[in-house]
Amino acid sequence: MTQITPQPGIMDIALYTGGKSTVEGVSNVVKLSSNENPFGPSPAAQEAVRRVLHEMHRYPSTDHGSLRQAIGEVHGLDAGRIICGVGSDEIIHFLAQAYAGPGDEVVFTEHGFGMYKISARVAGATPVEVPEAERVTDVDALLAACTERTKLVFIANPNNPTGTMIGQAEVERLADGLPPQAILVLDGAYAEYVEGFDGGASIVDARENVVMTRTFSKLYGLGGMRVGWGYAPAGIIDVLTRVRGPFNLSVPALAAAEAAIRDTAFVEKCRAENTRMRTWLAEALMEHGVPSDTSCANFILARFSSREEAEACDLFLQKQGLIVRRVAGYNLPAALRITVGDEASCRRVAHVIGRFK
Ligand code: PMP
Repeated sequence: MTQITPQPGIMDIALYTGGKSTVEGVSNVVKLSSNENPFGPSPAAQEAVRRVLHEMHRYPSTDHGSLRQAIGEVHGLDAGRIICGVGSDEIIHFLAQAYAGPGDEVVFTEHGFGMYKISARVAGATPVEVPEAERVTDVDALLAACTERTKLVFIANPNNPTGTMIGQAEVERLADGLPPQAILVLDGAYAEYVEGFDGGASIVDARENVVMTRTFSKLYGLGGMRVGWGYAPAGIIDVLTRVRGPFNLSVPALAAAEAAIRDTAFVEKCRAENTRMRTWLAEALMEHGVPSDTSCANFILARFSSREEAEACDLFLQKQGLIVRRVAGYNLPAALRITVGDEASCRRVAHVIGRFK
């Protein structure tokens, strides 16, 4: 008889599924459930991957120097304070592994991204979910939830799945109000969709207790390559680098990300199209009696009158080949999260929701 058991808390982790991409018996499926870029990866990123195919027998760079340099140049950041990960998911994991453990608390909002809870539990820490009014990150509620055991506070800005965002002054108030042992993590997975927004980099620069995470999975169209990064004070980068392991990013992933971040024309086009179609989709859904909060990201949180109606609409959409995301797991049972697709997909989803209503 073995006595093999996982660490306490592991079996409390709900299985995380990426959502489906096919519907049985339906062809011509459009996936609007994972906030992917409808325009795909930049042609420059595809070309860069082709160029490194012959290097696949070599281990990748251990320090990601070339990619960090590119990120630093494009964003005007110190490349020495950037760390790269297998998606920003991995940076979130590193933070929890390095800074939270049994007896510690990890704080985030009830509508906060699912990885915060998973990472907290994997680290053996206690996740603390903070309720919020009106689906907007509530700084007072987050501050009130902090204790002498709080080690990490996560907010996504803009937030997934609400799409809402809070201003710089509010973020600074949160950073400056935290207990001394706590790190504020500013998750900027959707920061690129907000023109001129630095994702909180200046807040990181002015403090010792703030980290920013970013991703190549959204605007850069590289969800399948799994590349994210973090920007932090030098001491925190030193700690996270010890947790990282030497070869976390693959050769093609590094090449694709570096080419993608330098392809500014593609990025501009995708951002502008997203803004245009997001406005169009929100207005079209409103005309069908489905309101949404003002979204700052590449998705819309469509709100229905009840959980039953949201689920019925989801099934109706699926039958028409449209996959959107249920967000009941984010305490939003009467809502569906719809990625802003290209114009044809947006028109199709609005048309089908109109028929449903
Ligand atoms: N943070 C937020 C708020 C997200 O929505 C996502 C992706 N769904 C991530 C982080 C992780 O993205 P990735 O690991 O692909 O970088």
